[in-house]
Amino acid sequence: MKSPQHLPMTQFPIVDDCLQVGGRAITEIALAVGGTPFYVYDRQSMTRRMAELRAAMPEGLTIKFAIKANPMPAVVQHMASLADGLDVASAGELRVALDTGIDPIKVSFAGPGKMDWELKQAIASGAVLNLESEGEMERAAVIGEALGMQPRAAVRVNPAFELKSSGVKMGGGPKAFGVDSERVPAMLVRLGELGIDFRGFHIYSGSQNLSAESIIEAQNKTIDLSCELAAYAPQPVRVLNIGGGYGIPLFPGDPRLDLAPIGENLERRMAEVAERLDGAQVVIELGRYLVGEAGLYVCEVVDRKPSRGQMFIVTNGGLHQHLAASGNFGQVLRKNFPVVVANKVRGQERELANVVGPLCTPLDILASQMDLAVAQPGDLIAVYQSGAYGFTTSPIAFLSHPPPRQILV
Ligand SMILES: *Cc1c(COP(=O)(O)O)cnc(C)c1O
Repeated sequence: MKSPQHLPMTQFPIVDDCLQVGGRAITEIALAVGGTPFYVYDRQSMTRRMAELRAAMPEGLTIKFAIKANPMPAVVQHMASLADGLDVASAGELRVALDTGIDPIKVSFAGPGKMDWELKQAIASGAVLNLESEGEMERAAVIGEALGMQPRAAVRVNPAFELKSSGVKMGGGPKAFGVDSERVPAMLVRLGELGIDFRGFHIYSGSQNLSAESIIEAQNKTIDLSCELAAYAPQPVRVLNIGGGYGIPLFPGDPRLDLAPIGENLERRMAEVAERLDGAQVVIELGRYLVGEAGLYVCEVVDRKPSRGQMFIVTNGGLHQHLAASGNFGQVLRKNFPVVVANKVRGQERELANVVGPLCTPLDILASQMDLAVAQPGDLIAVYQSGAYGFTTSPIAFLSHPPPRQILV
């Protein structure tokens, strides 16, 4: 049986066997950014991706960018111009979001354990809190009172159902995220008493899902649950944030998510929401789907070394700068991201090789037994699908190497 392959990566053109990003050869970008390793992100890819998504989703759907996927300020600025809002998960991200000049009401702040100073900053700025617990609601009310400002808030609900076949599950069963759906009616009564400006509901079930069927099922259940809970709301529901979870192909055998059936189903359901929750805005929030495929991580070959029948390509980048590609960020069995020799993509000569980093740990692997062009010191290795959860999800201080550079082209 043939082992599964990566889907072809077509987002970056290849000219003279060299990857091009934003119309420039990757070798040129390496010089322009001041050296390797680096992350390069492509504006055009993000713009194209958003246009494709809007074409497949119903008109009137609000699409937010979850900035934790890639909080580089230049990227967030670009995404703010494409998306209908930004979702943040800390006061630090809130600052980056507000620096784009976005209307604060379009910024939602989710995440458990919001600290008092973060709540204060968010309430003072006019962003919308996605309340993760009753305790957080009480603290927000006290802080709002002290500031003389009415907090804006949605209630994040932890549903009783799960997002099936998801890479990361964030709803269903006991969870740190959101308030159990059965507790929400009582919470809404209290929210009304506290005089918080109720915006609506936020239900986020999971991430990195490649099954349209599972996403449709979760969206349907989310809309049903929100309509039930709306009966207890102290004010009309204005925002119905049904989450996201749209995934991108990362590993051999991963398909591309089929958007068409999701769009068709959502169109029907949005018509129903318009009837049942008049005036409620339906929102999805996506991170990796919008920016993940628009980025590459690039490092440089330092050494080639045969060892007992295998070839090791040793680079100046690795696990400390791209934890996910090393297989140590939420994977059970290590699988390869798509990797190429960026300046010899097809290559005259090819070999089966391991690409490793400079760290003193056997976990520092960027590719294991991959078919690659024969790479020599000075050649560039590129890891695709690196525009999300790369730089900021990596233990950059581990082994005290300088951090990777970042560039948006
Ligand atoms: C992480 C997160 C997202 C973004 O997830 P992606 O998998 O990058 O789309 C969106 N919303 C919330 C609440 C999150 O925690």
